[in-house]
Amino acid sequence: MTTTSEIQATDSAHYMHPFTDHKGLAGKGARIITKADGIHIWDSENKKIFDAMSGLWCVNVGYGRQELVDAATKQMQELPYYNSFFQTTNVPAVKLAERIVGLAGDNFSHVFFSSSGSESNDTNIRMVRHYWATLGQPERKVIISRNNAYHGSTMAGASLGGMSGMHAQGGLPIPDIVHIEQPYHYGLAPTKDKDAFGLEAAGWLEAKILEIGADKVAAFIGEPVQGAGGVIIPPKTYWPEIQRICDKYGILLICDEVICGFGRLGKWFGSELLGAKPDLMTFAKGVTSGYLPLGGVVIGKRVADVLINQGGEFNHGYTYSGHPVACAVALANIDIIESEGLVDKVLKETGPYLAERYAELANHPLVGGAETCGLVAGFALMKDKVNHIPFDESLEVGMICRNHSFANGLIMRAVGDRMIIAPPLCITKAQIDEMMVLITETLDATLADVTKNGWMHDDAPKVAYS
Ligand SMILES: *Cc1c(COP(=O)(O)O)cnc(C)c1O
Repeated sequence: MTTTSEIQATDSAHYMHPFTDHKGLAGKGARIITKADGIHIWDSENKKIFDAMSGLWCVNVGYGRQELVDAATKQMQELPYYNSFFQTTNVPAVKLAERIVGLAGDNFSHVFFSSSGSESNDTNIRMVRHYWATLGQPERKVIISRNNAYHGSTMAGASLGGMSGMHAQGGLPIPDIVHIEQPYHYGLAPTKDKDAFGLEAAGWLEAKILEIGADKVAAFIGEPVQGAGGVIIPPKTYWPEIQRICDKYGILLICDEVICGFGRLGKWFGSELLGAKPDLMTFAKGVTSGYLPLGGVVIGKRVADVLINQGGEFNHGYTYSGHPVACAVALANIDIIESEGLVDKVLKETGPYLAERYAELANHPLVGGAETCGLVAGFALMKDKVNHIPFDESLEVGMICRNHSFANGLIMRAVGDRMIIAPPLCITKAQIDEMMVLITETLDATLADVTKNGWMHDDAPKVAYS
């Protein structure tokens, strides 16, 4: 099994991939990624590809970091595994919990570890319901989430998420999880004042709370910036208003920081940038830069105090909670982020520069609503951006663009017709320039295709929307 086609044949015969239409894949074969360094990956044909998605939003410090390899090796030699179930603990887990609490700020006191974002959100559901039951309000069970949110792929994670395609398989959502509309200004109300729309969108939470009854609502969960939903950046009025509403009704706020945490938005956690004070924060992905699976929940004092002093035994945990090797790698990863000043670099240098370069994309005939926040960015491919008319979904213009992007040596992801990126935090300004060339070439190739197919809108009245 050495040639690309041999590996592809075996892959197709035995490996069932996540989120994949296998019938569609079988004809062409999977792309085989064989090595990586910095912000680049290579496939089995030795094609070098610019990874503007950091793997799956996780390789924050970039590929090929020997420090992380060394940390894993050392820990594996010393203590490759032990659990934290039976009144035992291990040093890397203790150190990492302390470190993460320190980064999260004064509201927080504890960390619960898992191996993924999905598991962590399962933990969140159990934790907030146990919290309310402990306080004598077991009827407070409902968790409010948002359409188009992504909170993972387990039964609970996918239920919290607002992806209709995921709900359609497996009988989801599970009971007592409800959704409100997302704060997608460009997609839902581009002609409205953005700040006013932010307040309106937060108001949907209050309306839902009143509809259900505040005494039945346990928590609201949201990603500071929705990632997998297409990089939906809320107006700046949104999160402070969400916070005000949660406070007003005493509802717990869970920020799912799996993408936004560990520096991606230019702060250690996205909620800090966007003006929320969550009671619980989900993390995973960037905590180890993806080098090993690790996730968890940072627990605010409000919840920790009740669970620890009154909650009794929390009948919940994972074999790999506080895995020493994963925790050792996370510590080394945080060391790199700190010593290279990556969080501040995103806030003050690369984030603003990416914003400047993305603003230029507005001149491209296909691009609508280009926006960035730290090192996440997205735009919509539009049939007629002047009149705000999207392409017919069935044309799959996003897929056409993604295919051009891959062919052009750039990993840029398509969510419907939204094209999104989340490059490693170690990206330089020169590399951003390099990426913008690839993006522009990709857009030009896509424009040539849709124009040739007669899909662009030419004769609609050119009424500018404001
Ligand atoms: C990726 C992601 C998850 C799920 O994490 P897994 O490690 O894949 O289980 C949860 N929440 C958000 C916001 C994510 O982006």
